[in-house]
Amino acid sequence: MPGEFVLIDRIRARVRARADVVLGIGDDAALLRVPAGHELVVSCDTLVSGVHFPAETAPADIGWKALAVNLSDLAAMGATPAWCTLALTLPDADGDWVDAFLDGFLELAEQHDVALVGGDTTGGPLSITITAHGVVPEGQALRRDGARAGDEVWVTGSLGDAAGALAQWRARGPSSAKLRHRLDRPTPRIEAGLALRGLATAAIDLSDGLAADLGHVLAASGVGARIDLGRLPTSRTLADHFDEAQRWPLQLSGGDDYELCFTAPASAAFAIEQALAACDVTATVVGVLVAQPGLHFTTPEGDDHVPSVAGYQHFQGVH
Ligand code: ADP
Ligand code: MG
Repeated sequence: MPGEFVLIDRIRARVRARADVVLGIGDDAALLRVPAGHELVVSCDTLVSGVHFPAETAPADIGWKALAVNLSDLAAMGATPAWCTLALTLPDADGDWVDAFLDGFLELAEQHDVALVGGDTTGGPLSITITAHGVVPEGQALRRDGARAGDEVWVTGSLGDAAGALAQWRARGPSSAKLRHRLDRPTPRIEAGLALRGLATAAIDLSDGLAADLGHVLAASGVGARIDLGRLPTSRTLADHFDEAQRWPLQLSGGDDYELCFTAPASAAFAIEQALAACDVTATVVGVLVAQPGLHFTTPEGDDHVPSVAGYQHFQGVH
């Protein structure tokens, strides 16, 4: 793309170094030092304008979110973030847009001491691909396949706020700035993921809604779950804008929460509460794992509830 190198120079000028970056932006590839006794944890996510965020989203929010969704994956692995690469596809070489994008991106990167070490800059419809790299002591990563029947199912924070904001945006009616903030600026639960190492038996981050994402843990671990809808953690703001029956689809199938869902034996509950309180994260037990495969939701009245829509899937129906 014409102007590509001007943009890359602009990006490079704003990037902070880390001692373990032997070589960052500017060569054909980055050289990074992985600490001894650790595994490298790598995650990649793309955000496409109009698919993953409303096209008119502020560039700083897009920058924040593009990194946040990647850091959320590292959080779910119990990894400490370290480095990332950034592939930007831009409709035109707009330096002001890139600066605003970097405001949000670097704000979050600096919070977690993540160094931008490379990337690619191309022309085309707006899309952002980030690969985030983290490290975890050998054998200690949180995975999807360790859940056992009898474990409790937990979620951090509250569910459904981001989906509520999206529903309000689509309806073009009254909207809540608080909900919209949860959609545009999700909080990757990095500290919680670290605190859960050695306590949780399995973990996943909630990007596509509890029903779909917990389903992945169940499939990987070969177990089932019973979830009590009355226990779903719900923010005051969401409750103010949506009644219970409206909230469940947002909380089960809405997505974009970027909270952690994890499993642990009941004997670990006290230690989990203490570890998460120490990093200022709330967490709630929402159900239990059972040996029989399948995911069942129960209303506070004791009735079965079948979620109306599954989590978002690209290429639905493609085989
Ligand atoms: P190459 O042609 O060798 O792939 P590029 O011209 O694409 O190199 O990039 C030059 C340097 O700038 C590389 O180190 C690359 O990692 C970095 N870079 C390119 N685009 C970005 C970006 N959007 N963010 C961070 N670094 C970038
Ligand atoms: Mg390149």
